[in-house]
Amino acid sequence: MVPWGYTAGIAIDPIEKKPFFHLLPGARALSFGMLGCDLHCGYCQNWFTSQAVRDPRAGGEAEPVSPEAIVAAAVARHCDVITSTYNEPLITSEWGHDVFVQARAAGLVTTFVSNGHATPEVLAYLAPVMDAYKVDLKSFSPKTYAALGGKLQPVLDTIAELSTRGIWVEVVTLIVPGLNDSPGELRDVASFLVGVSPDIPWHVTAFHPDYEMTGPPATPVRTLLEAVEIGSAAGLKFVYAGNLPDRVRNLEDTRCPSCGATLVRRTGFTVQEVRVTAGGACPSCGATIAGRWAKPVA
Ligand code: SF4
Repeated sequence: MVPWGYTAGIAIDPIEKKPFFHLLPGARALSFGMLGCDLHCGYCQNWFTSQAVRDPRAGGEAEPVSPEAIVAAAVARHCDVITSTYNEPLITSEWGHDVFVQARAAGLVTTFVSNGHATPEVLAYLAPVMDAYKVDLKSFSPKTYAALGGKLQPVLDTIAELSTRGIWVEVVTLIVPGLNDSPGELRDVASFLVGVSPDIPWHVTAFHPDYEMTGPPATPVRTLLEAVEIGSAAGLKFVYAGNLPDRVRNLEDTRCPSCGATLVRRTGFTVQEVRVTAGGACPSCGATIAGRWAKPVA
């Protein structure tokens, strides 16, 4: 018995909200969530559904739906992307897989927004139907991961495995003051990502008190700016500051790592300009820009 055939929420989000910054900028992503998560992060913004099995205060409810109906809704609403998100999609991989089979047949790009706490077996199962995968790398400390209910190493292994398999991967680290904001830990995260691929976009995003984590203050702008500097100094080509639009200079934009030209201009989840060619190149110098910039031809 596996959870299948329901959702606990469906919405259409800009792809930038997932966040994917190197995947069809400006695309509409039909996003569906289920109930439950293997982790219990105190700052979870989706605790109402993710903690439904664990926390009696959570009240997410399930609505029956078929893969065909979800995909038909995405097509009818002019979405290019379909995303399993909001709770942890890995715990309902069979369901996500079956939705993605239908989605691929309809020409949609398929994505997971996930904590990355995966096994090699589930990644092998999902890979044939998965285009892109966002991983939350929450910390570089096994102790912090244990407090959230998980383990660090499987998440690191997931990022490496996704990259090896050619699935487009972007990584997010929510920076929580006092939890994971030391320069040393941020350097460890950045160095690890560079070791997998310097092309992996790293989103360092601002925390604000939520759910059960109301002690730490919101992440200051200067901490995000320092994190971006750390990532760039480590050798990552694309580092973005998130959750503080208008307060992080142009650190939501994509720039060419070769000539510095601005290629995608963004404010928050809004895309103002896209200059990357459909073939994935900088129009100014011709450098290849890693990502998926055009829909695959069916
Ligand atoms: S892994 Fe994500 S969905 Fe699960 S509890 Fe943590 S923040 Fe929430």
